[in-house]
Amino acid sequence: MSEPSVFTRILNGEIPAEVVAETENAVAIKDIAPQAPVHVVVFPRDATYRDVVELAAGDPALLTEIVGLANSVAADLSDGDFRLVFNRGAGAGQTVFHVHAHVLAGGLKESSLG
Ligand code: 5GP
Repeated sequence: MSEPSVFTRILNGEIPAEVVAETENAVAIKDIAPQAPVHVVVFPRDATYRDVVELAAGDPALLTEIVGLANSVAADLSDGDFRLVFNRGAGAGQTVFHVHAHVLAGGLKESSLG
């Protein structure tokens, strides 16, 4: 059995976090090290899936719920436009192996992908 992820520890109240929105199966929190004016991570309460590829194969409805929560967070905290990033694998920068979406919003036009 692997150690609980940092997101599971947040859900369990062991680590504080600023929750900005939640649904039955997913939670959105402010990222501790923001890379954009709005930087929120959205993840399922269930830690079964390590990355977005596993989630898409195993529970596409839950992936849809995460995208919907990301959309409502961006509408609430910014102008509704956002970038949605899933890192998949350590080589792509993934550090937390509990699937999560980065919602990046506000002032993105100057960034390298913009
Ligand atoms: P990854 O690199 O796995 O795609 O993204 C993990 C994200 O989780 C990073 O952006 C990192 O800043 C964020 N993170 C890691 N630990 C914590 C924490 O304890 N609290 C919060 N709010 N975010 C965290």
